[in-house]
Amino acid sequence: MSNRVVEGRMVTPERLAELVEGEPPLEAEPIEDAEMECPDCGGNVISVGYMPSVTEFVTAYKCQDCAWSDTDRS
Ligand SMILES: [Zn+2]
Repeated sequence: MSNRVVEGRMVTPERLAELVEGEPPLEAEPIEDAEMECPDCGGNVISVGYMPSVTEFVTAYKCQDCAWSDTDRS
């Protein structure tokens, strides 16, 4: 099962990537637990790897309880 509840709504990997990226990804991998706590609310953080374009792979981190998100873009 890769769908997860984020901010009270069930999301697919693609939808989770879109929440963080602002645009739908070309591809997204299954959602995983990031094994970290949200720096804003202490909630559980999940991660998803996705391709925003054919030349880029990004891992996004998103809190399940609040609006906090981050990516591994340098
Ligand atoms: Zn949070």
